[in-house]
Amino acid sequence: MKATICGQTLELVEGDITKQRVDAIVNAANSRLAGGGGVDGAIHRGGGPEIMAETDRLHPDGCPTGSAVISCAGRLPAKHVIHAVGPVWSGGRRGEPDLLAGAHRRCLELAVEHDCRSIAFPAISTGVYGYPLDQAARVAIQTAIQFLQEQGRPELVRFVLFGRPAYDEFAAALTELAPPS
Ligand code: ADP
Repeated sequence: MKATICGQTLELVEGDITKQRVDAIVNAANSRLAGGGGVDGAIHRGGGPEIMAETDRLHPDGCPTGSAVISCAGRLPAKHVIHAVGPVWSGGRRGEPDLLAGAHRRCLELAVEHDCRSIAFPAISTGVYGYPLDQAARVAIQTAIQFLQEQGRPELVRFVLFGRPAYDEFAAALTELAPPS
């Protein structure tokens, strides 16, 4: 599914983030950038030790929740990995939506700063961090639409959803939130 926002493309696909041929892929990292399971495990396995070596060197203090940092992508087809730290869900009253939006916005800013024309996101925080998929989808899509409306870049923002239920939630959010073209 695709939408056009200010001439740029917002796209949803079902698939594996590590296989994406885009300028930057986003990792759902933890604030110590210590590696973990889920998307993070898949990215470090696929990209090899170079990614962790670079994050350790450039970002030894990790990354605060609600923000993101960038590294190389090792052996992956992307040029960069942007490590985003989404919030752990704890009921929704501890600023989770703002933190999740902030993490997405920082990824988009870093992509633009590094001349990336395309970026692919997973559904940050919706795995072990427990953020309800329907709510996370709305925050993610809304933040991407707003950024494209304000900045007119990057050319392609793709959400890569792991499995049909995640795809369906993002599709519902995009249908609801995309401005009519
Ligand atoms: P978090 O700790 O931010 O919740 P997880 O990695 O546990 O991060 O999960 C985030 C989302 O990424 C989940 O919806 C999960 O299904 C999905 N996911 C797991 N592996 C992949 C992958 N290889 N590509 C894309 N999405 C993935």
